[in-house]
Amino acid sequence: MIFDVITLFPEVFRTYFKQSLIKKACKKKVLKINILDLRDFSSDKHKTVDDKPFGGGRGMVLKLEPIYKAVRSLRKQKRKTKVIFFTPRGKKFNQKMATKFAKLDRLILISGRYEGVDERVAKYIADEKISIGDYVLMGGDLPALTVIETVARLIPGVIGKSELLKQRITKKKGFIEYPQYTRPEVFEPQKGARWRVPKVLLSGDHKKIEQWREKHSRIIE
Ligand code: SAM
Repeated sequence: MIFDVITLFPEVFRTYFKQSLIKKACKKKVLKINILDLRDFSSDKHKTVDDKPFGGGRGMVLKLEPIYKAVRSLRKQKRKTKVIFFTPRGKKFNQKMATKFAKLDRLILISGRYEGVDERVAKYIADEKISIGDYVLMGGDLPALTVIETVARLIPGVIGKSELLKQRITKKKGFIEYPQYTRPEVFEPQKGARWRVPKVLLSGDHKKIEQWREKHSRIIE
């Protein structure tokens, strides 16, 4: 699967992906992450990508043309592709959406900045408008990283086999993530305090363990 990120901060992505399972997956060619610097698609020598808002108001707005050119440079290939634009006014991102995206060949992610982005990007260029939550960030880079991480881990070859098995159970039964513990079985931070691992997880009884995990998972439809 290919992720293309259109951003004003390519270094953020390069640094982040230098050290993670995603880097390994890229090496194995399971994933490809293509980072596009929006300024490379500007048409003037100062590499301008923003302008004042029509109608007045504070701050600057990202221009339509550089984003249009960046997306057009990618859309030539015939693949199952979606263009995602990040905005706090978009549809709230969730696991179900991630599962749908993981079936595509390519996701083009447009990260906004400043006071926002010319609304024609949302109207004419984006296939989906996505928010990662009801709060306003300074830019769409963290939302883009969030989507990449969530979708990438659903692609075979990115994470380990035990994770994939967990995901298969999750898909069948419709629950998402349960609490995890590791050694020691009992931790004593101070005299008289004993922080224990639930007994059932030490029992070796796989059926009971699965029931416990199901009970303690967050259910999603
Ligand atoms: N006024 C803009 C609007 O209503 O879309 C928000 C501008 S915000 C300061 C700058 C950029 O950060 C947005 O264009 C968007 O790409 C990104 N952003 C901020 N909060 C977000 C959220 N909760 N989900 C997704 N993207 C977000």
